[in-house]
Amino acid sequence: MTRIKKFGGSSLATKERIKNVARQIVDTYKSGHSVVVVVSARGKTTNNLIEQAADINPNCAKRELDMLLVTGEQQSCALMAMAIHSLGCPAISLNAAQAGIISSGSFGNARIKTINTDRIKQELEKKNIVIITGFQGVTKNGEIATLGRGGSDTTAVAVAAALGVGTCEIYTDVEGIYTADPNIVPKAIKLKEISYDEMLELATLGAKVLHSRSVELAKKHNIKLWVGSGLTKKEGTLVKESTMEKMLVSGLAMDKDISKITVVGVKDVPGTAFKLFSSIAKKNIVVDLIIQAMGDGKKGLKDISFTVSKKDVKETIEALTQNNGAFEYEDISYTNDFAKLSIVGAGIVSNPGVASAMFEALYDVGVNIEVISTSEIKISVLIAQEKAEIASRSVHEKLMQLSLGNVYG
Ligand code: ASP
Ligand code: MG
Repeated sequence: MTRIKKFGGSSLATKERIKNVARQIVDTYKSGHSVVVVVSARGKTTNNLIEQAADINPNCAKRELDMLLVTGEQQSCALMAMAIHSLGCPAISLNAAQAGIISSGSFGNARIKTINTDRIKQELEKKNIVIITGFQGVTKNGEIATLGRGGSDTTAVAVAAALGVGTCEIYTDVEGIYTADPNIVPKAIKLKEISYDEMLELATLGAKVLHSRSVELAKKHNIKLWVGSGLTKKEGTLVKESTMEKMLVSGLAMDKDISKITVVGVKDVPGTAFKLFSSIAKKNIVVDLIIQAMGDGKKGLKDISFTVSKKDVKETIEALTQNNGAFEYEDISYTNDFAKLSIVGAGIVSNPGVASAMFEALYDVGVNIEVISTSEIKISVLIAQEKAEIASRSVHEKLMQLSLGNVYG
């Protein structure tokens, strides 16, 4: 059987950890499996590379940034092959071009289009352990592009899909998926299982454990994700189709990487929202919560606010200001003072009490709600960033009383 194992940066941060991971891989190999390993960059390497780039040129070209960033994964990939060799086992490192990972050319946010698995299969036939760089793709023109921060998870799932392997093992620095970030909510509990849809919401909402596109891809190809620690041998969490016991609420996510942009005084006529948001969409920027408020009613104007990831503020404002006269506005401003707190659970849709319990928990700690957005399985609120932690703990406390099911401990 072929096993796909992905190791995150923290499990590769030191020499000892690399050797420890190499031993785990060799154990699996020696028990008779073919093994494909996907690695991300060691420790804080990617952040350091981004800082170096900004230091040389704060407006560096995205293509060149990608050329730099992929070196992080190449280091861990080659070092891992060397570590496995030193344990007496055959292994080969492959970058995206060598592994046949063909992506789009959108630098910094490329998508894997297809994987030509010939080389990977040849190496497996030769009994090599195959180590692949995560996070990188190569375009059909030979350009190198990265998949977006945290993208190695997506590489691993794409490799599993291409090889027809049903489970992808993701080894990370936490022991599984928790009901909340244990650093913020000490009472958070580890889940045994969670459904793709719930996990997808949590990942999109800012739970940093899995790259959201990896969950999307896993769902599409029905690949189970096992998420656990690369450092301890504790049980992890399985992400799969639907879970046996549906929890009312399976998790809470908090996202501080939010900027709220307000476009003041746009015309209150059909087509305004379309023109405004299509100018942003053209830049491939993801817009989240949207609020429309009455502006100057007498002049027939309204204000539109929305949230984007902090890194996209500059480009969003550029897109809005250079709209070639498609729409007019009086002013554009932005603030980083907000956080988004969300709860996710398959049971939300059928239990109206969940929303009111969440709002009560916020009221209990005096937190004002700026915006509310709901879907079948999620409720998100925009709140003051300085209250984010206390709000998270209060909401978690209240909701977990309602919903314990599929958890450890
Ligand atoms: N090294 C990349 C990052 O830090 C990709 C990854 O870790 O998945 O974002
Ligand atoms: Mg990660």
